[in-house]
Amino acid sequence: MDSHCDAPRVLVIGLDSATWLVMQPLVEAGRLPNLARLMAEGAHGPLRSCVPYVSAPAWVSFATGCNPGRHGVYDFVRRRADGYDIELVSAANVRVPTLWQILSAAERHVGVLNVPMTYPPCPVRGALVAGMLTPDLHSDFTYPRELRKRLLAAVPGYRLEPTILGAVPRPEMKARLQQEVVESAEQRAAAARFLMEEVDGWDFFIVVFTELDRLQTYLWDDMDPHHPLHDPASAARFGNAIPAHYEQLDRLLGELLTKVDPRTTTVMVMSDHGLGGVHQFFFPNRWLAEQGYLHYRRNMSASIAWGRRLLKQVGLGGVAKRAAAHLFPGWAAPSQLRSAAFVHDVDWTRTLVFWAADNGFWLNVKGRDPQGVLAPGVACDALCRELTEKLLALRDPLYGEPVVDEVWRREELYDGPFVHESPDLRVIWHEVPQERRTHFAASELWGEQPFGTTALSGDHMRDGILVAWGRGVQPGITVTGASLIDLAPTILYLLNQPVPLSMDGRVLRAMLDPDLVAAQPEQREQVEAPIQSSGGFAPGDEETVVQRLRDLGYLS
Ligand SMILES: [Zn+2]
Repeated sequence: MDSHCDAPRVLVIGLDSATWLVMQPLVEAGRLPNLARLMAEGAHGPLRSCVPYVSAPAWVSFATGCNPGRHGVYDFVRRRADGYDIELVSAANVRVPTLWQILSAAERHVGVLNVPMTYPPCPVRGALVAGMLTPDLHSDFTYPRELRKRLLAAVPGYRLEPTILGAVPRPEMKARLQQEVVESAEQRAAAARFLMEEVDGWDFFIVVFTELDRLQTYLWDDMDPHHPLHDPASAARFGNAIPAHYEQLDRLLGELLTKVDPRTTTVMVMSDHGLGGVHQFFFPNRWLAEQGYLHYRRNMSASIAWGRRLLKQVGLGGVAKRAAAHLFPGWAAPSQLRSAAFVHDVDWTRTLVFWAADNGFWLNVKGRDPQGVLAPGVACDALCRELTEKLLALRDPLYGEPVVDEVWRREELYDGPFVHESPDLRVIWHEVPQERRTHFAASELWGEQPFGTTALSGDHMRDGILVAWGRGVQPGITVTGASLIDLAPTILYLLNQPVPLSMDGRVLRAMLDPDLVAAQPEQREQVEAPIQSSGGFAPGDEETVVQRLRDLGYLS
């Protein structure tokens, strides 16, 4: 072997929304043999996500080793600086360099496949295939650009996401989704094998499987006889779909493991957050309206009906729609339209607080928000305390249990130059892990009741999974206290690279081989690497939405 073959390498296999709540029993039943082997021979434990535990900020936190206050991504959407409306975010909104940009700057070779929030693709030393939020397969979603053709030739059925048919009856939708998930994961693994060959001698390689998130979100009720949407006929057909997909992923993991040598390569299997059943979704704006904090311009049921009608009528073209269709499957219209209609229908001159599509409570502050009513300072503080008390006291009508476990002001939760781009208040939902269940806010902005069901039967939980194996990992270790932001520093350390001073995460030394830790001191230093400062969606796509709404008389 020449010296390059002995160089340390890291392979990351991301399983979006993988949870120990499902995996642990499957491992114990002998159904995930490859994962069980990695766990027995390596380290494993829970992996704490960021807040909110939504894929976009979670994957960016993973990729940058920073908290959202520093990297600037809080959701797939963000509030426009000058209004109440939202816009889609892209890789151009990530304000610090990613692991692959840092490694590329250090002349290491990287392969990056299907990581959410990597569109538009950034230049790397190696290859990058953008993931979730890529508009479609005709977009330039690879770096280098010509890679797209070679990828689609090598993996002809390659797809970005399984299609979710929101409008068809549930059994048909589930059957189609299950089939697409299975196919999509096979294609993703084929693409990973292709890309591993393309980036000859890669030092770092990551592939993310996002199919599990879609499957668990829509088919969780088939695994849980107590779920309000549970239907025994459906369960007889789809009850094993989620476990079977974990088995498929385990088989694909086994195939990828044949490509690596554990003496030189560290393998990490991880998820960006967990997932559990949601028996009742919480509709924050309806609750705020009932509490007198939010006012609509007409009575609430008329507003809801109007909003629904509007969304049925309005069509939308362009890249933003195609991207949003991946993100908000099952909705009649993309999030921007729902948000625009909501913004139009709220009486901002009387509204103190609202819940936006970026998963948090915003105060409507004088001098800061376009039609702000709340005086900054003491009045905001008092309202935050009042809301916190009410949210913590809130009980789920189905079980009489808490809905919210923690409420945080953004300054308490985040650190960095972009804290002000977060909603003012964030909540941590109450989780019931022994019943594999959690609470979550519905993405619906109106809501007919404060609590209710939606087309989804599951949603995210705060802890994901981490399994590490191979070079530098101490065997038989249970990892505690690991956080998503710790992986980037740990990966850099394993690749013998300095960890940027600006990274919030820490090297997970407790799971590493003590000999390695003793021999290799951790270097923290200023690291220069480019970020993506331009690109994103074409401006015309956003304008199309606004103009369409104006044409229809919904915006003045
Ligand atoms: Zn996710």
